[in-house]
Amino acid sequence: MKYELSKNAGFCFGVKRAMNIAWEKITESDGEKIYSLGPLIHNKQAVMKYEQKGLVVIDDIEEAKDSKKMIIRSHGVSKKVYDDAKERGIEVFDTTCPFVLKIHNIVKGAKDVGQEVIILGDRNHPEIIGINGWADNEGIIIKTLEDLKSINLDPNKTYTLVAQTTMNEKVYEDIVDILKDELSDVNIFNTICSATKERQQSARELAQKVGAMVVIGGKHSSNTQKLKSICSEYCPTFQIEVVDELKDVDLLKFEKIGITAGASTPDWIIEEVISYIGSL
Ligand code: SF4
Repeated sequence: MKYELSKNAGFCFGVKRAMNIAWEKITESDGEKIYSLGPLIHNKQAVMKYEQKGLVVIDDIEEAKDSKKMIIRSHGVSKKVYDDAKERGIEVFDTTCPFVLKIHNIVKGAKDVGQEVIILGDRNHPEIIGINGWADNEGIIIKTLEDLKSINLDPNKTYTLVAQTTMNEKVYEDIVDILKDELSDVNIFNTICSATKERQQSARELAQKVGAMVVIGGKHSSNTQKLKSICSEYCPTFQIEVVDELKDVDLLKFEKIGITAGASTPDWIIEEVISYIGSL
């Protein structure tokens, strides 16, 4: 069976860095519990591997009772979380991606000088919740062109605009074009991460030259879902979390399979899929 792995697939720089720091801290703590505020990444299998080593996932800092160590994941958090941790004497291992930290700084700087903050992205995504926290939870959050219609913006105010790092570039451009027309004073920061763009571009190119695509990644991973939606425009696309899910798919009817993976998919899961497809 012929197959090709996308040029850019799997862990991005920020996730790789976060997972390495977390692994190092868990290993150093020698069995002592370390909390993670939310799952480190949207990949069940990888999270389980870390849990077996002593990582305990909590949803709220209130749950941090038995240990004074906590990992902040690559999505980042609001300033309040750092303050709460300090107040409780919790040592924080911060794995926030440097690209997300940059957005926190932009937003905080804008608020400090009295500007309004516009955040393009999904209001329920942890990255956006964290970013909005640095805007005193007063950011104007816009995900779609529809959202834009329901928001009243003051043309006399100064705005600063940032975007979720995994935002769809096309939607971003459409919204920014309208805002540029409506607002006279808006500082625009395209904070979409190039890792996301590269993954999407490579997947798009590959999907056009194969019979079907396999997209590996967590069902709740937004960047994996976007890869699936891009590939589906060109060929039948199967999204899986683990190799076993491919066993019921008749891949042999396709001449060539393309493989890509979301930014939170570990190498060992990609390798299992490659090895299975290669064995067909
Ligand atoms: S996708 Fe980009 S911003 Fe997000 S963790 Fe990876 S490198 Fe950082």
